[in-house]
Amino acid sequence: MSAALLSLLGLTRGELCALVEGWGFKPVHGGKVWRHIFLEGRTDWESIDAIPATLVDRLHQATTVGRLPITRETHSTDGFTRKYLLGLKDGHQIETVLMRYSGRVTACVSSQVGCAMGCVFCATGQMGYTRHLTTAEIVAQAWHVDQILRATAPEVPVLAEVDHDSPHHRHERLRNIVLMGMGEPLHNYDAVIKATQILREPGGLALGAKKITLSTVGVVPGIIRLADERQPIYLAVSLHAANQEQRAAIVPVAKKWPLDELMGACAYYAEKMQRRIFFEWTLIEGENDRPEDAHAVGELLQRVPGQVNLIPLNPTTGYGGQPSDNAAAKRFQSILADYGLPSTVRQRRGIDIAAGCGQLATSDDSG
Ligand code: SF4
Repeated sequence: MSAALLSLLGLTRGELCALVEGWGFKPVHGGKVWRHIFLEGRTDWESIDAIPATLVDRLHQATTVGRLPITRETHSTDGFTRKYLLGLKDGHQIETVLMRYSGRVTACVSSQVGCAMGCVFCATGQMGYTRHLTTAEIVAQAWHVDQILRATAPEVPVLAEVDHDSPHHRHERLRNIVLMGMGEPLHNYDAVIKATQILREPGGLALGAKKITLSTVGVVPGIIRLADERQPIYLAVSLHAANQEQRAAIVPVAKKWPLDELMGACAYYAEKMQRRIFFEWTLIEGENDRPEDAHAVGELLQRVPGQVNLIPLNPTTGYGGQPSDNAAAKRFQSILADYGLPSTVRQRRGIDIAAGCGQLATSDDSG
C-alpha cells in the first residue's frame, strides 16, 4: 500500500523548507513552493521559476496540496452569504461559510466534523462528534475561500477591498477568519493553533492576528492555555446564560466547566493578554432575553473587560426555541449599556441557506 501523501496546506513555510532540504534540495526552493501555494494561490509546480525538475517530481510523488472538493454550494438570497460543503478524504464533509458584510470578506471555518459539546440549539451539536480536522483541513477552508475570491470579480452588494499597490492582490482579499463553524476549536487546540499560525505567516495569506477570532463554548483549560502561550488571535466566548443552572441547560459542557470557573479563566485571559473578550449571547425568546437576564450579564461581566455580541437564535430542526424580536434585543442592549458594557446585535444573514450561527451541519435537511 502506498504511503499517505503529505498535505502541503498543513505546513508552515519553515516546515516546507525543511522538508525540501531533507530531500537534498536547497531550502530556498521550499520557500518558492510555499509562496506559490499561499501567495499566488497556485499548485502548478512546473511553472515555478528555477526549481529543479527532480523536486517537482518528488512533490508529485510524496505530497498533495490538500484541496477539499466542493460538493455543494449555496448562496443566500440577499447575496451576502455563500455556504460550501467540502469533501474530506475519508468521505466526511464539513461546511465553510463566506460572508461579505460591511465591506469585509470573512470566512467562517470549521474545526471538527460534528461537535462533542452538544449545545441544544446548535445543528452541529445535534450531529454529535465524529473527528478533529487536521491543520491542513482547517487551512484548506480559508485557502479555498481565497481561491474563490481570486476567481470571481468583486461583486455587489459590498465594496470590494482591493489592494491596488500589490501585484499579487488584484482580487478581493480574504481579510477575516472566524473559527465559529462546525466544532469546538479548543477541543482541537493544537491543529487549530497551528492553522492560525500558517494563516498569519507573512508572505502568504498574511492575515492579521486581530483578524482571526476563535470562538469557544467555554473550554476552560484551552482559554488558560491561549493566555499562557500568548496566542495573539482574538477570543470569543459563547455565554448564552449568566447563571450556572440556566447555562448548563443550554450548554451541557457547563457541567464540566461551571460558570464561575469559566469567568475565572476569562478574567485570567483578559488580564494576561490585556485585552477584552467578545461574549456571544444567542437571544432565545423567553429563555434568556428578559430584563433580569440582561442585568445578570451586566453584573457578571463587571470583572472581565468584554463586549457582548447578541445573536437572535437561528432556527434548527432539533430545537424548538424562537428568536427574540428586535424590541427585546434593543431592550437587552440598553440594559447592558447601563452597566457600561458595549454590545452589538448581529444581523441575521444566510438563514435561508442554514449558514447562520448554530446552523451548520452536513445532513441533507440543513442545506
Ligand atoms: S455551538 Fe459550537 S460548541 Fe456548541 S455544539 Fe455547536 S459547534 Fe459545538
